[in-house]
Amino acid sequence: MARKAPARRYDKLRKRLRDEEERLERLRAEAPALAEEHKGVAFSTHSAEEAWGTYEREQGLALTERLVGLLAEVRQALEKFGRGTYGTCDSCGNEVPFPRLEARPQASLCLVCQASKERANRS
Ligand SMILES: [Zn+2]
Repeated sequence: MARKAPARRYDKLRKRLRDEEERLERLRAEAPALAEEHKGVAFSTHSAEEAWGTYEREQGLALTERLVGLLAEVRQALEKFGRGTYGTCDSCGNEVPFPRLEARPQASLCLVCQASKERANRS
């Protein structure tokens, strides 16, 4: 028997990614309705309510944007399964540590590349 079977090892993560994709799609389908629901409040003559309605709507839109971003990450990870590159860093090609993948199956970068990307984003 092989000492390690990488494909097998990732099966569980692939399932988790598929579940996550489904969950995010469902949430995204609900999110615009959430934003829509509060639009009516903006027509209120009460200014505090008006402001709140806008705030809620913006939150709804921000949530949708976030969901779209997450969904893209999950789909990218699933595509990597298709290409047989799942578990490797998109940037340097090194193996992404398994505990990192277990914590975040859609992780596409190793810790070193992730850290340098975050530094780049901040500056
Ligand atoms: Zn890397």
